[in-house]
Amino acid sequence: MELRRASARPCDGCRSAKAAEFCEADAAFLCLACDAGVHGANKLASSHKRAWVCEACERTPAAFACRADAAAPCVACDVDGHSPTPSPAATWESL
Ligand SMILES: [Zn+2]
Ligand SMILES: [Zn+2]
Ligand SMILES: [Zn+2]
Repeated sequence: MELRRASARPCDGCRSAKAAEFCEADAAFLCLACDAGVHGANKLASSHKRAWVCEACERTPAAFACRADAAAPCVACDVDGHSPTPSPAATWESL
């Protein structure tokens, strides 16, 4: 199976869909469908800390999620200069 788009990181699970997130525990990029399969399997897996894939370059785990912008840039793509200071209510933690 060949990759049609070299720019976007493919899912490590199905190798066909575009990865939407990166799991630190598995060291794997996953699409949302594979994430549901892998992390919905049991309680331990569901506790894995995951990060969105950067929406700009689509191949690097995002450094953090900006709730206000609903964006998840990696450090290199964070041109707006956000600082990684998540609020206690934030779902996604700073890495
Ligand atoms: Zn997948
Ligand atoms: Zn995982
Ligand atoms: Zn990026």
